[in-house]
Amino acid sequence: MDWSKVAWVAVPLVVGWAGTTIVRSLMEGTPLNGLRKLFGRPAAPSKKATLSVIVLTAPEPKWHVGAMGKVPMLNLTIHANLAHKSEEPVKIVQVYLKGTKPFGVFFPFIVAGPYDEPSLIHFSVRPIIVKGLNRLTRRVVLVDQFGDKHVTEPVTFSTIPVEPWRRGVTAENPTIKCHVCDEPISMIELHETAAIPAHKRCVK
Ligand SMILES: [Zn+2]
Repeated sequence: MDWSKVAWVAVPLVVGWAGTTIVRSLMEGTPLNGLRKLFGRPAAPSKKATLSVIVLTAPEPKWHVGAMGKVPMLNLTIHANLAHKSEEPVKIVQVYLKGTKPFGVFFPFIVAGPYDEPSLIHFSVRPIIVKGLNRLTRRVVLVDQFGDKHVTEPVTFSTIPVEPWRRGVTAENPTIKCHVCDEPISMIELHETAAIPAHKRCVK
């Protein structure tokens, strides 16, 4: 067989087909799956948006204890700049701290593209993984509409003590009932920062 002729026939065929694929991909903006197949590589997985999440220092990231019904939960707030370069908007549908589960109500929001204004993001989780008035350092996980997870650098949350009188404890009325278990709470048993009146032991 005259191999030089076979090569001459085969090369233009391959280049012709690959060339068309590249041009069509460039024009349509589609991934080069055809070429990947040609070279024996698996098709590209669905494109995950690269979301940049920069947590801003003011207002500071905060945690506090709240409740949904009788169940205590950890409420968190961050002020963050979110940006991406995808053609489609990214919708954030769930936010939680690494090692916890989302809990309570979260209002999804949309990140349109690279120039969105910073957002104040409120989210709640369980279990309550912080004691007393400690600082809490964790990564924040943002889940988009496709279920893709975007994880931040570790974020340090602080809290503000809630004065007992704000929750109805005064010298005249030294005991109030716990929001979680309905038993009376003495001043010493009152959780330092829960926005609800609750025993330290009931906030978990
Ligand atoms: Zn209690």
